[in-house]
Amino acid sequence: MLEPAADLYSEPPARAVLLGVCGTVHEWAVRDEFLADNSSAGTDVELGDLRSHGALLDAADADRYVTALALLTWQDDAHFCARDGAPTTITSGGWMRVCTACGREEYPRTDPAIICLVHDGADRVLLARQANWPARNFSTLAGFVEAGESLESCVAREVAEEVGLVVSDVVYVGSQPWPFPRSLMLGFHATADPREELVFMDGEIGEALWCTRAEVREALAVGDWTSSADAHVLLPGAVSIARRMLEAWARAGD
Ligand SMILES: [Zn+2]
Repeated sequence: MLEPAADLYSEPPARAVLLGVCGTVHEWAVRDEFLADNSSAGTDVELGDLRSHGALLDAADADRYVTALALLTWQDDAHFCARDGAPTTITSGGWMRVCTACGREEYPRTDPAIICLVHDGADRVLLARQANWPARNFSTLAGFVEAGESLESCVAREVAEEVGLVVSDVVYVGSQPWPFPRSLMLGFHATADPREELVFMDGEIGEALWCTRAEVREALAVGDWTSSADAHVLLPGAVSIARRMLEAWARAGD
């Protein structure tokens, strides 16, 4: 449970967003620079980011965190009307902005993105490293849903563009809010044939490997991308849906 940031303000600051009401407590989120700028802020407020403090959050607090981040990021980008460019004003506890000229209502946006664990239907999974990632850092494939595209079509297109494989048996497995800046990651499994040649058509992927369950378990055991272990493959950290998908797939072989 997050500690209450009590005694900071007598009322919510203008740029605060309402996360909800817990009992009699109204929970608001503000930017950390606002806390730093405000001389009335308590000196015992500890600031942290998702990577340094994410492991301290339980599921409810993680929900609060990503909701706060999504809302505050949207607020930063929504100061002007998309239709006529006039200023907008914040309302509804930060969950809506209204155009001062035409009255158009703007709401927080979410961009769907797919993340897909490609496997061979047996004991191998495809891991890929983006060309601009450090050596040894691998994950599953991911990409944004394009306008007018179904999720299933997006999975097929992304896998084809990134590694040149044709997938089948596309199955939804779960989702994760990813407000960096405003994505919703939708997780899928799909099957492909390891005998097909890997072709990195769009240049995004620098390297890809078919790995066995034993190799994935080994990579999970040495830690994550931050590990200094002498391993050939490192996998994403605990906050990512990619790791949870790989953990579940690796367990399924037991
Ligand atoms: Zn307008």
